[in-house]
Amino acid sequence: MSDNSVAGKHILITGGASGIGAETALLLAKRGAKVTIGDLNEVDGKTLVERINDEGGQARFCKVDVSVSQSVEALFVSAIGELGNIDVLINNAGIDHDPKFLLEIEDATFHKNIAVNVNGVWYCMKQALGHMLENGGGHVINISSVAGIRAAPTLSAYSAAKHAVVGLTKSAAVEYARYNIRVNAVCPSFVRTPMVEHVLSKLNERGQKALISANPMKRLGEPQEIAGAIAWLCTAESSFMTGHTVVLDGGMTA
Ligand code: NAP
Repeated sequence: MSDNSVAGKHILITGGASGIGAETALLLAKRGAKVTIGDLNEVDGKTLVERINDEGGQARFCKVDVSVSQSVEALFVSAIGELGNIDVLINNAGIDHDPKFLLEIEDATFHKNIAVNVNGVWYCMKQALGHMLENGGGHVINISSVAGIRAAPTLSAYSAAKHAVVGLTKSAAVEYARYNIRVNAVCPSFVRTPMVEHVLSKLNERGQKALISANPMKRLGEPQEIAGAIAWLCTAESSFMTGHTVVLDGGMTA
């Protein structure tokens, strides 16, 4: 296997039915990886799996709610049972919330963001790290956000959750580096996905323009541009990299 290959690797991606996760699943499958897609969205997940398999790839779908530890456990049992040991886990499932100042955000919204974006990553990391320890190694890739490395006004609950993801990434990377397990994070800015289309739909024209041109490239990222970086992380070309954040933001945080 060449250093830049993912062929034959079993890659589990949560939230793989839509947006960044779906583009990543398509790209990895096209490059020969075996892909398990875990998602709440059964309809889109199964449709994507059908498309990948029709195009000659190897994929399967498993319904999961990453915020529920038993559901995550069942996902790992099913994924390992069907496609074998997991080489890479991509913790991509996530939610955001309507843009509001902190005082206007309901406690329930904060708790939901923590439940999906932090607890979900936590449960999946626990399953993956235990499994990878037994198998002599692996790679966990956590999808955080630029909101996980800098202020995100009106997105404080989301930002708190995404900062936690970066913290989990760094600490676990240092703890497990000696066991041939890498842990890295990816931090995109605004990317054209259903999540961002929903945010755009809530803004007036001025707000939309401001969001789209919030980086020096003056455009949204495309899901394919994030998928490409994640796919590179899945290869041995990134083998000396652990505990870091790959920032894909059109220059926003430069
Ligand atoms: P998306 O299109 O909304 O896709 C997210 C997927 O995750 C959906 O299929 C969603 O299912 C699923 N999901 C939600 N809650 C879940 C749960 N509890 N358990 C399992 N699956 C669940 O989002 P995206 O924009 O591609 O975002 C993917 C990741 O990138 C997220 O972690 C997000 O925070 C991060 N990110 C996105 C951007 C951006 O601009 N798009 C920027 C920075 C970071 P449903 O459709 O049923 O909800």
